[in-house]
Amino acid sequence: MLYKRSSQLFAEAEKVIPGGVNSPVRAFKAVGGTPIFVKSAKGAYLYDEDGNRLIDYINSWGPMILGHAYEPVVQAVIEKAKLGTSFGMPTELETQIAALAVAMVPNIDKIRFVNSGTEACMSAVRLARGFTKRDKIIKFAGCYHGHSDSFLIQAGSGAITFGSPNSPGVTAGTAKDTLLARYNDLENVVTLIQANKSEIAAIIVEPVAGNMGCIPPNKGFLEGLRQLCTDNGILLIFDEVMTGFRLARGGVQELFNITADIVCFGKVIGGGLPVGAFAARAEIMNYLAPLGPVYQAGTLSGNPLAMAAGLAMLQALDTDRAIFQRLEEKTAYLAAGIDKVLKANDVTFTINSIGSMISVHFDAAPVVDFQTAANGDNETFKKFFHGLLQEGIYIAPSAYETWFITDALTYEDLDFTIRAIDKVSKTF
Ligand SMILES: *Cc1c(COP(=O)(O)O)cnc(C)c1O
Repeated sequence: MLYKRSSQLFAEAEKVIPGGVNSPVRAFKAVGGTPIFVKSAKGAYLYDEDGNRLIDYINSWGPMILGHAYEPVVQAVIEKAKLGTSFGMPTELETQIAALAVAMVPNIDKIRFVNSGTEACMSAVRLARGFTKRDKIIKFAGCYHGHSDSFLIQAGSGAITFGSPNSPGVTAGTAKDTLLARYNDLENVVTLIQANKSEIAAIIVEPVAGNMGCIPPNKGFLEGLRQLCTDNGILLIFDEVMTGFRLARGGVQELFNITADIVCFGKVIGGGLPVGAFAARAEIMNYLAPLGPVYQAGTLSGNPLAMAAGLAMLQALDTDRAIFQRLEEKTAYLAAGIDKVLKANDVTFTINSIGSMISVHFDAAPVVDFQTAANGDNETFKKFFHGLLQEGIYIAPSAYETWFITDALTYEDLDFTIRAIDKVSKTF
């Protein structure tokens, strides 16, 4: 496949956009080469500026769970656009999508819409701090909650001391309020809580991690967090920006029957438009302005085009209850196929998957946290990524990302992918 026009467009983009991209994961830094410029997409396929067709396993990093240019979403946006694109005043549509989200997700009474997952997580933490009147939070290494200051934190010098900034521009003052724990390690969390008694407002977690590959929680991990939070007056925040409306109609709370105190959404909830949201029981949500003292706002929050897209998406997921089952079956089929060909070609690997999320790690040991994810062989991943690209298959240009299976993928697409992986893995 040729990427001549993409390369030219990237060179032009680099002159006026830092690194040529508006979000760093889109650059090919981890794998080398230049990003592909998309012209259009439909169903399971991307069409790039050079006229190549690619089977898409990223799907805008999650939102397009029903495939690209899903007709009811496109129609909803077109119809709403004709009526005006933004008002900064309440619309009936906002109540409709809020009511549907509240009906689909367990344990939430009220929801507020924002413009990104970053905003949702940032606002959820502020709300938790305001509600508990405590400052510190616990997050897990390798979990991503958007790019707000409190989350751009790496491990400090000692396990029970505070974190340190992992980006210039994040102040030491902010970093000291974020404590870092290992995913799937309850003991580590217990230690942090004991060392910071009565200071911790919230534990924020990806209840199924998807930003260090796909890492499901070990049995008892989420249950343990729930118990620790209840026992210590800490709010449990499930960041379901990736998993919400994806792993089940009601997200991971429903999937594992665990109650979170605050839930964050993004990606699928916007149907491909910029939407985030955070939700909780009324007691907590009523702490937000204008009812309560915690301030949070947004000029374009609840934007009619975004709400129309999100509502059409949620309605589709709410109506077709078999969808999550179908997605899971496709993912299991793909996982089994990849497992078979990689074994046949003597590749060292681990496959993690759950629901419609799957990741392939080039290491033999179980991948259960950031450290074990980081042990994967990146040189093999690079060959894997570029080999698949040549075969017309687009996976994330980083070994730390999950693949997203969509309803638009056919079993022919999956078979094609498995054959391509067979071919590519013979060259490792
Ligand atoms: C993508 C993601 C975010 C950030 O969402 P943006 O819309 O990119 O700001 C937060 N948390 C999780 C779990 C995510 O996957």
